[in-house]
Amino acid sequence: AVLADIEAENEKTGAYLEVFADHCLEKAAKIDQRIKAGEKCGALAGVPIAIKDNMTTLWGKTTCSSKILENFEAPYNATVVEKLLAEDAIIIGKVNLDEFAMGSSTENAGLGKTTNPWDSSRVPGGSSGGSAAAVSAGLCFGALGSDTGGSIRQPASFCGVVGVKPTYGRVSRYGLVAFGSSLDQIGPLARNTQDAALLMNIISGHDPKDSTSLSEEAAPNTDFTLYIDKPLEGLKIAVVPEFIDKASDSVSKAVQQAIDFYSSKGAEIREVKMPHSDYAVATYYIVATAEASANLARFDGVRYGYRSEKAENYLDVYTKSRDEGFGAEVKRRIMLGTYALSSGYYDAYYLKALKVRNLIRQDFKEIFKDCDCLLTPTSPSGAFKFGEKSDDPIQMYLEDIYTISANLAGVPGVSVPCGFDENNMPVGMQIITDTFQEAKMFQIARMFE
Ligand code: GLN
Repeated sequence: AVLADIEAENEKTGAYLEVFADHCLEKAAKIDQRIKAGEKCGALAGVPIAIKDNMTTLWGKTTCSSKILENFEAPYNATVVEKLLAEDAIIIGKVNLDEFAMGSSTENAGLGKTTNPWDSSRVPGGSSGGSAAAVSAGLCFGALGSDTGGSIRQPASFCGVVGVKPTYGRVSRYGLVAFGSSLDQIGPLARNTQDAALLMNIISGHDPKDSTSLSEEAAPNTDFTLYIDKPLEGLKIAVVPEFIDKASDSVSKAVQQAIDFYSSKGAEIREVKMPHSDYAVATYYIVATAEASANLARFDGVRYGYRSEKAENYLDVYTKSRDEGFGAEVKRRIMLGTYALSSGYYDAYYLKALKVRNLIRQDFKEIFKDCDCLLTPTSPSGAFKFGEKSDDPIQMYLEDIYTISANLAGVPGVSVPCGFDENNMPVGMQIITDTFQEAKMFQIARMFE
């Protein structure tokens, strides 16, 4: 049924870059047989799940929506894909994204256009725009995205679904094409908090193949649904009043209503400060671009994907393949990052950014000393129209003003739908907790659903 829906709808939403129809039907038939034979099946037996196309799969291609990887076939599955398969999920296809996950609207996609299922003149958000659109349009039951600065939470907010960025190191990055390695986390997008928590149960856990994956002792395996429908006594919610004031009127109103709801349920609302949040976007664009410039050096026209036909010597292979293969935003980031890391500028920019990153971490520590969570808007506005921000990178970068700090600090965050904006587009609120407190984060989010 989901394949038929994709067939009918995908032309409009453009969520999928590739659908594994034959593979899915074969796998589903096998699961049917096993069920009939009375065999025990996994927790996701037969459930269609979509994968952002920056995670490797043995079938089909892994393109990062970039011309440079247009025909790249990965020789292995990402750990998260293996974990889904072990629970008998059906990997239904690969979904669109901003090229190499760089962007906030999926307008930087190099291999296709994805629209918002609520209004096709508007963007689905990004960079996991395909994941959010596929879940929202009912073209899968859950999806995986990646979040470096907001790329799961912001599109979830724009498309009216739940999106989770786990604690850094909770979910293995093995098989995720690296963008900003110290910030990147894979997480689920789902129709509700419960589904998202169930997916977290499956994809998280230590992985020896990822050196930044947390050990069992540091992050014991938790059942993320443990407290999901349990009442929460004495909940203390932190809010930063400027964050709510800075958002558009309709977003402020929707988030304020959510705060009033929690208050009516007995939660204590505490006004707090995040003194270094004004520097978060600037800090992120130094750290993320620096790491991206190093990570993307591997696309050299030799080892992966595209090679320019115009190359006449070795240097040409490198420069022409990259020039023709990468899109404008990716080039902008490589240049910014290379500049920030170059001799003479390293201390002035990169080292300073690392120091500010630490101050942002401490801002969160301070808040979580007394409060269970921080509640903010997910994004300053609802979904905007195509072209509205694409000519102005700074405007686009400001989209992540509320989400970026969580990546810099490594703490988890979830976006849950909390109302609609002046255009009747969905609006999300974000709940951020201290590291490893995802179960509590889901419990708080679930109260509002
Ligand atoms: N929008 C941010 C960026 O362009 C975040 C992207 C992401 O989280 N992958 O870098």
